[in-house]
Amino acid sequence: MNQPAVLFESHSHTPLCKHAEGWPDEYATVAHQRGLKGMHVTCHNPLPDGYSAAVRMAESEFDQYVDLVAKTTDQFAGQVDVRLGLEADYVEGFEAYLEKQLNSAAFHFVLGSVHPQIPEFRRKHWQDDLLEVQKIYFEMLAKSAETGLFDSLAHPDLIKNFTAEAWDPVSILDVIRPALDRIAKTGVAMELNTSGILKTISEMNPYPAMLEEMRSRGIPVTLGADAHVPHRVGDGYITAMEILKAAGYQEVNFFLNRTRQSVAIDQAIASLEFAENSLAE
Ligand SMILES: [Zn+2]
Ligand SMILES: [Zn+2]
Repeated sequence: MNQPAVLFESHSHTPLCKHAEGWPDEYATVAHQRGLKGMHVTCHNPLPDGYSAAVRMAESEFDQYVDLVAKTTDQFAGQVDVRLGLEADYVEGFEAYLEKQLNSAAFHFVLGSVHPQIPEFRRKHWQDDLLEVQKIYFEMLAKSAETGLFDSLAHPDLIKNFTAEAWDPVSILDVIRPALDRIAKTGVAMELNTSGILKTISEMNPYPAMLEEMRSRGIPVTLGADAHVPHRVGDGYITAMEILKAAGYQEVNFFLNRTRQSVAIDQAIASLEFAENSLAE
């Protein structure tokens, strides 16, 4: 029985961020093969004053980025719905800059990210007590939600990979719960990022106990492979949705025109399994 494509890849990159390979048409080709309905290109946003410039597009490349995605949208019309997105860093003090940037193009989806590994974050916040650094990270995560600038919070326990020796998945819940209380009040979604499997603590971000806390607060979830190479588009999605079901979720989400769209997880899994089976034939 034919299964319609229903799901989006909501996190993918381009070479403009200087640490990804492959152009959006190559990512869109994989999205099509894997049975995805669409794909957001969400490359790392430009920031002012050379802030972490080594891992993001320059301000002077922003128009090129918007044009690149628009060209890919046209190229794949009728096959895969390629939409303009952005992965925007939350940095205290840059809120007005971000607001202007996000209004300067017709974004369909904006991920908000706290990247604790970048030199500017480390210089400002790092200290010997790594539990303190973890607390600062989750405080920043809650603050990022409260700006109202973002649709979904990317890889929302990323800090564990950079403070792994001090990561206690049980006791840290005392820090995570009040942050999630604040996040839930804003209505923002949070991401289940499958690329965590490739990181120091090999599990998706966030981990299952945190997903259960998100579920109990009614926080919606978007899926992202965080693909920095084309073959990772949609990577781990079926496993991710099984993890979501185990945490009590029945729906998964993506955004169009910055408005949340929900899909039943069972339907989404069936659509991807159908595509895998037809590829194998
Ligand atoms: Zn990121
Ligand atoms: Zn990313």
